[in-house]
Amino acid sequence: MECWFTEKQTKDFGITMRVKRTYVHEKTEFQQLDMVETEEFGNMLLLDGMVMTTEKDEFVYHEMVAHVPLFTHPNPQRVLVVGGGDGGVIREILKHPEVEKATLVDIDGKVIEYSKQYLPTIAGKLDDPRVEVKVDDGFMHIAQSDNEYDVILVDSTEPVGPAVNLFTKGFYEGIAKALKEDGLFVAQTDNPWFSQELIRTVFQDVKETFSITRLYTANIPTYPSGLWTFTMGSKKYDPLETAEERFHEIDTKYYTPEIHRGAFLLPKFVKDLTEK
Ligand code: SAM
Repeated sequence: MECWFTEKQTKDFGITMRVKRTYVHEKTEFQQLDMVETEEFGNMLLLDGMVMTTEKDEFVYHEMVAHVPLFTHPNPQRVLVVGGGDGGVIREILKHPEVEKATLVDIDGKVIEYSKQYLPTIAGKLDDPRVEVKVDDGFMHIAQSDNEYDVILVDSTEPVGPAVNLFTKGFYEGIAKALKEDGLFVAQTDNPWFSQELIRTVFQDVKETFSITRLYTANIPTYPSGLWTFTMGSKKYDPLETAEERFHEIDTKYYTPEIHRGAFLLPKFVKDLTEK
């Protein structure tokens, strides 16, 4: 018998794919966790019924959330990832030789454990000596940090369950305090088809907190609508002014210096979300 999984985006629309087998179906302390094998996208992690990452298209999201900020900052030595327990963002961060230490704070240790087991090509760098892994609430970690990080990357679930606080103005103010005086951050901010209010609100909150605020996009087939947004808040460096000589050779499949610049060119209906 065939088994199909559907992530509903609205009550009338969703993305569907065939599931070959289920490895894990478990209610953790924080969320429903499913790890499945699909025909089209390889192994896939789901949290609360939403696609988090798949082996086939994960590179787009992980490269874009990591390399745009890390090439924008001239010397990203200390980097924090909030969420990101699958390890994909850490893998990309470590491609930058300037990074001395990368700290990952995910609230759910089970995501880390099962990603190591079933998504080894994604989670494979979590045991690197430059990486510190903490199982903790990212909101609390940020609240307790002061002037510590060059770059902070928020790779969280959508604003439901444990991630609700990670989409608040108080959180962005905490990030500003946790960053050094020339620091910058990027957060994944969902899609511009079904989450317009979220993008609009986050952009304004970040704009009121940081001197430079930018929105950029990437194409990710297994995420709702396929078009994904990232919001950057920066105290000093503008990603649009990244000097050509900053781009060193790096092993990627999506990110290029041209994409770095082009990702900020927004379709009109998306650009409108950045204006009041
Ligand atoms: N890239 C995915 C996306 O855009 O949908 C998300 C990746 S998934 C690894 C996100 C992670 O955020 C989950 O492992 C979840 O446990 C974690 N998370 C959710 N709320 C959190 C919080 N308050 N503090 C730290 N991590 C949190």
